[in-house]
Amino acid sequence: MQSSRKSIINSSVRSSIAKLLAKAREAYSAKNAERSKRYVKMAFELLKKNKTKLPKELRNSFCRKCCLIWIPGQTATVSFDRKNDCLRITCGCGHSKRL
Ligand SMILES: [Zn+2]
Repeated sequence: MQSSRKSIINSSVRSSIAKLLAKAREAYSAKNAERSKRYVKMAFELLKKNKTKLPKELRNSFCRKCCLIWIPGQTATVSFDRKNDCLRITCGCGHSKRL
């Protein structure tokens, strides 16, 4: 019972986060960077409050440090990390993460 309720909460939190991140992306492409950050912050807060595990594509779509939505080639750079043999995404604020 407990676990099924939790999974319902988790999936609704995940879809809210996905929606917020989509809005953040939209706001960013409409050159509304401040609004975009607000959406990312809301998504991040939901994530922290519910400790929801996100699928990779959502986890890797925003910066946890400066709440910037990551759009490869625009707000983030994807490069190959030779040292760790993996792809790495680097945010404008300098924060980077393994993909
Ligand atoms: Zn950042």
